[in-house]
Amino acid sequence: MKIICVGRNYAAHIEELDNEKPKDPILFLKPDTSILLKKNPFLIPEFSNDVHYEVELLVKIKKIGKYIDRKFAHKYYDEIGLGIDFTARDLQQQLKSKGHPWEKAKAFDGAAVVGKFVSKKDYQSVDDINFSLKKNGNVVQEANSSLMLWKIDELIEYISKYFTLKIGDIIFTGTPSGVGAVLPHDILTGYIEDKEIFSIKVK
Ligand code: ZN
Repeated sequence: MKIICVGRNYAAHIEELDNEKPKDPILFLKPDTSILLKKNPFLIPEFSNDVHYEVELLVKIKKIGKYIDRKFAHKYYDEIGLGIDFTARDLQQQLKSKGHPWEKAKAFDGAAVVGKFVSKKDYQSVDDINFSLKKNGNVVQEANSSLMLWKIDELIEYISKYFTLKIGDIIFTGTPSGVGAVLPHDILTGYIEDKEIFSIKVK
């Protein structure tokens, strides 16, 4: 399986990192080795002094597809999840400034938290889902999927022009504003509406 991540999909997050608003979605991949194993803590890697959490809504693909029209994209997923795109921000800035790919900063071991999945049928619309992240009990990120610049079905259309989507692939749909650094002993807890989806300890 593969993880396809979307960058800069929320206007307020683009502003907080002083990035330009893209014309098309920004895509990057994480390998399956980046998934944090269930019940394991997240270990801050030794090559970074500024690892940020980025909470994101996830979509799990259930059917193989290529060149999927947005009208039919809803047939390719039943489940929505929540995860963290951990980012070594210091390393990412260095790589970006040189115009290098940023995989080392985002695709390292443990950099993808994949929480539980829930049925999309539990919600009126995937384009109106509230989600949030608490750090040590305080809300640090809070958003609604309606704020995405490219909605889930548009993302599937766009991504599948470049990458064949296969069963079990996961899309990270981008982070809203409120990203910040983690420190050892932090506890990150993610919610879709009021339902707890994951809880991660930082070491
Ligand atoms: Zn992200």
